[in-house]
Amino acid sequence: NSSLHELDPDVAAAVDAELHRQQSTLEMIASENFAPVAVMEAQGSVLTNKYAEGYPGRRYYGGCEHVDVVEQIAIDRIKALFGAEAANVQPHSGAQANAAAMFALLKPGDTIMGLNLAHGGHLTHGMKINFSGKLYNVVPYHVDESGIVDMEEVERLAKESQPKLIVAGWSAYPRQLDFAAFRRIADEVGAYLMVDMAHFAGLVAAGLHPNPVPHAHVVTTTTHKTLGGPRGGVILSTQELAKKINSAVFPGQQGGPLEHVIAAKAVSFKIAAGEEFKERQQRTLDGARILAERLIQPDVTEVGVSVLSGGTDVHLVLVDLRNSELDGQQAEDRLHELGITVNRNAIPNDPRPPMVTSGLRIGTPALATRGFGAEDFTEVAEIIAAALKPSYDADDLKARVVALAEKFPLYPGLK
Ligand code: PLP
Repeated sequence: NSSLHELDPDVAAAVDAELHRQQSTLEMIASENFAPVAVMEAQGSVLTNKYAEGYPGRRYYGGCEHVDVVEQIAIDRIKALFGAEAANVQPHSGAQANAAAMFALLKPGDTIMGLNLAHGGHLTHGMKINFSGKLYNVVPYHVDESGIVDMEEVERLAKESQPKLIVAGWSAYPRQLDFAAFRRIADEVGAYLMVDMAHFAGLVAAGLHPNPVPHAHVVTTTTHKTLGGPRGGVILSTQELAKKINSAVFPGQQGGPLEHVIAAKAVSFKIAAGEEFKERQQRTLDGARILAERLIQPDVTEVGVSVLSGGTDVHLVLVDLRNSELDGQQAEDRLHELGITVNRNAIPNDPRPPMVTSGLRIGTPALATRGFGAEDFTEVAEIIAAALKPSYDADDLKARVVALAEKFPLYPGLK
């Protein structure tokens, strides 16, 4: 019963160093967030010891009476949060949620449509060497010249290719999708509509983004991005599809569910239903808008920096560096040197190679969770705008990053 520090100082030291990194830098990776201590407590609980193949009330193992309670709470809470008829909270991750949803609705060789990876889609929406690209015949759709999903192309491709499933969702896209239009097209060609709301689920929960649930046959999400919970996945569906989805998750794709993670999911769904969460999501959106507005001012556009689609409606900004001397890799490295963590991102029609790219994806959820408000995001935007110019004062910018990190202590109770 030794502590981690006593038993394994090597791993403990790396964990401590990661805590320090999170506390002392500004986390702006759009898919990341900081899980509350209560969520981490649930995730670090004795539920990790329990096998519970099956579903609440229908398990293949004894002793499931308590994990049944936990899993049912998680199911009930997320159904209420999004107004869904059915929920499966067992997927270990977003990728596995998508794999299971497709496994439930498709046969190998069926045609699917998804947003092209370089245009903002996710690997699981049909990338060539992902399971989705290997098992299914993928017809990708794209964004148009202005950076907006081209619904005319979606309709044309759907009519031509008669997909069995259309995926609407994204990992790097700064605008809202028109779920009603996607559903109309899906209905026209007899396809299922699957919305992957992994990125924007927290905004939906807060009522600050349209809810895809009334439009889609199936909605998948991760629980660790804007939603702010533990790493994991969830599938929401109509009652009609619930049985198929459940058997695709278990025994189709997974064995024993991670009940400790499901407990942590339940806690995060409780938090997401509250007023504080809504206020936080509003600050997330405000922060992204402040950043986008700063990065379209003349002093940065004249050095070749701009913002894809001209702004944002969500929690992230896609910075376009096609006309900048800085490439995505250099910009990511420069911000890293200053203490701001972002990721480079290929942008549509990117002239630079995928490992270099001409884009940056910058998100505000983690800083909003930390407490940042409009004034603080304005300062972050000033720092980033200065850093993307050919000459910048690194010491000054580093000091300003440190000041912001110190203004909002993260996990003050942890060492
Ligand atoms: N779906 C979308 C839209 C995502 O952006 C991601 C992750 O980035 C996933 C699914 C996959 O989630 P995970 O990394 O938990 O497998």
